[in-house]
Amino acid sequence: MIQKIYKVLKEYFGYDEFREYQKEIILSILNKHDTMTIMPTGAGKSLCFQIPGLLSEGTTIVISPLISLMKDQVDYLENIGVPATYINSSLTAAQFRERLHGIYENQYKIIYVAPERLETEGFIDAVNALKQPCMQVVVDEAHCVSRWGHDFRPSYTRIAGFIRQLRIRPTVAAFTATATETVKEDIKQVLELENPNCFMTGFDRPNLEFKVLVHVDKDQFVKGFIKEHADDTGIIYTATRKEAERLQNMLTKSGTRSAVYHAGLPDVQRNQAQEDFIYDNVHVMVATNAFGMGIDKSNVRYVLHYNMPKDIESYYQEAGRAGRDGLPSVCILLYSAGDTAVQKYFIDEGNLSAQQKAHEYRKLQSMESYCHTSVCLRKYMLSYFGDDLAPDHCGNCSVCNNETESKDVTLESQIILSCINRSGQRFGRGIIVDTIRGSKNKKILGFGLNKLKTYGLMEKYSKSEIDLLMNKLIAEGYIHKTEEQYPILKLTERSVPLLKNQGTVTMQIPKKSQKAAADTPLLAELKQLRKEIALREGYPPYVIFHDSTLMEMCRVIPLTMEEFSGIKGVGENRKNKYGETFLEVLRRYESNRENEQVSVPSESSRPGSAIGNKSDKEPVYKKYFQLFQEGKTIEEIAELEEVQNRTVENNLLKAYREGCEIDVNQLVQKSYELDIIKCLVADSWDGKLRTIKEQLPEEVSYLTIRGVIEKLRKKVLSLP
Ligand SMILES: [Zn+2]
Repeated sequence: MIQKIYKVLKEYFGYDEFREYQKEIILSILNKHDTMTIMPTGAGKSLCFQIPGLLSEGTTIVISPLISLMKDQVDYLENIGVPATYINSSLTAAQFRERLHGIYENQYKIIYVAPERLETEGFIDAVNALKQPCMQVVVDEAHCVSRWGHDFRPSYTRIAGFIRQLRIRPTVAAFTATATETVKEDIKQVLELENPNCFMTGFDRPNLEFKVLVHVDKDQFVKGFIKEHADDTGIIYTATRKEAERLQNMLTKSGTRSAVYHAGLPDVQRNQAQEDFIYDNVHVMVATNAFGMGIDKSNVRYVLHYNMPKDIESYYQEAGRAGRDGLPSVCILLYSAGDTAVQKYFIDEGNLSAQQKAHEYRKLQSMESYCHTSVCLRKYMLSYFGDDLAPDHCGNCSVCNNETESKDVTLESQIILSCINRSGQRFGRGIIVDTIRGSKNKKILGFGLNKLKTYGLMEKYSKSEIDLLMNKLIAEGYIHKTEEQYPILKLTERSVPLLKNQGTVTMQIPKKSQKAAADTPLLAELKQLRKEIALREGYPPYVIFHDSTLMEMCRVIPLTMEEFSGIKGVGENRKNKYGETFLEVLRRYESNRENEQVSVPSESSRPGSAIGNKSDKEPVYKKYFQLFQEGKTIEEIAELEEVQNRTVENNLLKAYREGCEIDVNQLVQKSYELDIIKCLVADSWDGKLRTIKEQLPEEVSYLTIRGVIEKLRKKVLSLP
C-alpha cells in the first residue's frame, strides 16, 4: 500500500515526499478509520483525502462549503488526470441532471458537494445506486458544525443524517484549519465520528511573518505598502463594507487597480471581483470577511488587516490565506482603538444570547491583547490554540524583530494638552490642530488663538502626524472627547501630571520596511507563459503550476523531460501537457546564458541563482571550489549549501574558468571527451548544448559537455 501511495503522489501530484502527517492521515482513511485532522491552511490538506479517493475502489464525496473552492479543486484534479466533478447551486437543472447521470455511471472518483445539496433526493438516490458504493465522506471546513466556532452553518448539522441514509456507512474524515478544544468536541459529536484517529499537525505557518502596527496613519501606510509591493498579490481586509469601498476608491485615486468584495454587492459583481483576483487580473483585493473562505489561491504574498477582526480564530484564518504555497509572505494588522469599538458594536447588535455575547467579548479581549502584547506574536496565537510548546522567540514577527522604534513624544503631548488648556477647553479637534500648527485661518485669528503661547509650536509637523498623536492621547485617556455632535476636547486626571512634567509618553513608530526582491527575468517569463496557458485553458494560473514550482524551475533549469518531471509539483499529467512548452523557454534561457558564458567570461551573478539571494562578498564559486578541494563530492556540497547539484557544478566550472587550480578531469566523463569534441567542431553544430547532448548516449551529462568546452576554451586561449 505504501508503495502505491508514493506512486500516486509522484505520478499525479509530482512530489517525492509527504509533508508532516500526510501519509499517516492517508493510511488512516484507507484503513477505514474515521479520521479528524486539524491542519493549518497550506499544509497540504486536500492531498490527504484526494489520494485515498484515488486509491480506493469506490467514490469519495467531499462536502465543502464554498462554490469557488470546489471549482478550483475540480479544475485541478481534472488537470492532473483525476475524474472529478461538483454539485452545487451554480449548476443549471440540466447540468445537475447530467452530473447525476455521470454519478450513476460511476464516472467520477471524487465528487464535491455543497452541504445543502446532500439532502436533494436525486443526489442520495444516485449515491446509493453507485455500483461501487461511496467509500469515504470527507467533511472539509468541519468547524462549520460548531455553534461556538466563527463560521457556523446550519446545513453542516445535517451531514450526519445524510451519512445515515447511505447504503453502507462510509469512512468519515473531517478536516479543519482552526479549532479550539470546544470546537473539536463539537466536530466529533455532531458528525457522529466513531472512535476517530485524530491528527493535529503543527498550527504554525513558519513562512508567514506576523506584524502588528499600532498608531500608524493607516491610509498612508496602505498606499506606501501597495506601491512597494506592486508586483505582489495581496488581500486587504476591512471591518465594514463602507470602509472597503472607501479604501478601494482611495487606491484607485492613487493609481492602483483593485477589486472590492463584500456581502452588500450583487452576486454578479462579487463573482467578477473574485474571478479578477483569482485569475491575476488585479493584484489587490479589498474585502470584508465575506471574502476568502474557500479561496485556494496559493500565491497571495500579503494579507493586510486594515481593522482588527473580532477574534483570533478569524484573524488566523484570514491571515492564513497568505503564502499557501509555502513561500515567505507577510500578515500585517493595523490597529487603532476605534477597531475595538466597532467589534463591540457588532457583538451588541448581533442576535446572540447573553451567554454567547459574553463568550464573544472574551474572544474580542484576546484579539485586542494580541495587538498590544510584547510576547512573540506567533507564540501568542499558537498558545491561544492550545499549543504551549511553541518557542518563545520565532524571529519572524514584529515583536521578535523589534521592528517598531519607541519615540519619546512627551514634549509634543504637552504642547497639545497645554493648547487645549490655554484655549479654555472649549474647542474641538480641528481648531486645536490648526492652532498648534500656526494656521492663519479666520477662525483662529477671530478667536485670538494666535496669541496663545502654544500657537505655531508644532508648525513643522504634518496634520496626519498630529492626528496620530491625538488619537493615542484620546485612546489612552489623556484627553477626553465629549459626546456631542461637535465634540470638544478636555483635559483629564491623567493629563494634569503630564503638564507638570511628571511622566513621559512614548509612541511606537514603525521602522522603514524593506523592499521585496523583484522577479528575475526568467521567473517573469515563466509566469507570463503560465498566464497565457491559463487564459487559453480557462484555469486560474496556479492550477497550471504554483509559484513555488516555477521558482524551482528557475533554480534547477531542467532541460530534458526527465529533469522536468523531477521538479516538485509537476507530476505525470502536467509533464505531458505542459512539459515541452516550458522546456522551450528554459532551454532558450539556458542556451543564451551558455553562449554568453562561452564567449564572454564575466563576473555575472551566480549561475542558477534565480531567486534573489543576497550576494556574498566573496564569490560563491570560490567557496564551492574550497569545499571541493577539501574532498567533498558535488552532492555533498549541494546538500551542505542547500542548493541543487547543478548550481555546484556550474560554480566549479566557473572556478576552473577563473583560474582556480581545479582538476576538471574529475568533473567530466573522460571516455566521451573525444566524441564531444567531434560534435563541437562539426559544421552542423548550432551552438546549443542540447544539440550535442542529443547526439550522445543518454548517460553523458551536461556537466561533462560543459567541462570539455571549458577545457578546450582554456587550451585555445593559452595558444601563443
Ligand atoms: Zn515572534
